[in-house]
Amino acid sequence: MLRPPAGGKPLQAVEGCFMARLVLKFGGTSVADREHIRNAAGRVAREAAAGHEVAVVVSAMSGVTNDLVGQVAAVSPLHDAAEYDAVVASGEQVTSGLMALTLQEMGVPARSFLGWQLPIRTDGAHGRARIRHVEADPLRAAAAAGGVAVVAGFQGLSPDGRVTTLGRGGSDTTAVALAAALGAERCDIYTDVDGVYTCDPRIVPKARKIGRIAFEEMLEMASQGAKVLQTRSVAMAMRRGVRLRVLSSFQDAPGTMIVGEDEIVEEQVVTGVAVSREDAKVTLTGVEDRPGVAAAIFGPLADAEINVDMIVQNVADGGQHTDITFTVPKSDLERATALLREASLAFDALVPDRNVAKVSVVGIGMRSHAGVAQRMFATLAARGINIEVISTSEIKISVLIADEYAELAARALHTAYGLDCDG
Ligand code: ASP
Ligand code: MG
Repeated sequence: MLRPPAGGKPLQAVEGCFMARLVLKFGGTSVADREHIRNAAGRVAREAAAGHEVAVVVSAMSGVTNDLVGQVAAVSPLHDAAEYDAVVASGEQVTSGLMALTLQEMGVPARSFLGWQLPIRTDGAHGRARIRHVEADPLRAAAAAGGVAVVAGFQGLSPDGRVTTLGRGGSDTTAVALAAALGAERCDIYTDVDGVYTCDPRIVPKARKIGRIAFEEMLEMASQGAKVLQTRSVAMAMRRGVRLRVLSSFQDAPGTMIVGEDEIVEEQVVTGVAVSREDAKVTLTGVEDRPGVAAAIFGPLADAEINVDMIVQNVADGGQHTDITFTVPKSDLERATALLREASLAFDALVPDRNVAKVSVVGIGMRSHAGVAQRMFATLAARGINIEVISTSEIKISVLIADEYAELAARALHTAYGLDCDG
């Protein structure tokens, strides 16, 4: 059973093994039904029996949140965001209660907590709220009493006392916020894949599981299309120094550790290749080449909170006019084109294109190695793949290409940077 630290002293070795404070998070597929919940609860019970102090975060059963979102949309297409949250937060309430009951049946004292019961305080941005503060005392009290707290993920409490949700996939962020508030040694994210891969194995069959990846790399991988973790949760883990582990709840394998750079022993130039099909391309031809034009284009998009990712401005021929190409999320494409047509902006044509994919190579080793971009461009050129837009950061190079070449490009780059598994 749980051995709480005496008098709030730092955790220490218990009978020769290190007693740790852990947060265990189970995603939707890991709590998909009663049997899966029992399996997950078994993992919790094992950690508790090993003497660790455990807090649990659960998602809704897989498919439930999608269904709730659909019900809201069916009742009210232009729905009130606060009521959307009231409905979609309910999936996690069910699993937190069922998980607590299952643990109790196994002889592990457990109690569920909803976001408002701790509370997890957020801002008032319904549907995509940000966590401001986690009140961790109820969790510490539960642990001190030898029990496991099971927290409903994805939800919080707004400043005016309403239920909020943290954006799709937000239970990851709940788990990281809890781990930070508790000063946990580690936050384990149990999911249906056994770790983070060098690329999506459905795209690149020779992809390998990554043993350790740096926060910054994971942040780029997540925001460039690798869907294992909510991007926001990785950013928070990096900021707060929460060591994350991604692993499967269906098998016993070590998973992937996401850690600070100082913990990365074997640094590679490129750690992973990411493919994203979430962006669309917009080209404005014949815009005036004078100061203020870029501001006139991107100002209205920024005001509408449309995220512009990649941008190129072509060289003007004759010096009067130019073309500007950029990407926005596919889900915002209609809004973006409407805003540009309404803006006081002269151009010849506005050409939207959904038929693009973004392929990125990511690695902290890029900082200290030259020629990484050149290898990418040469690899794509050798396959006859045309690059439409390029963007870079210190540890990432992204190219926008025609959608039909995305798989070919990812496989070729995976090989070119020496990431293929043997055999
Ligand atoms: N249930 C929520 C979703 O499906 C939150 C989560 O699973 O992380 O987005
Ligand atoms: Mg998830």
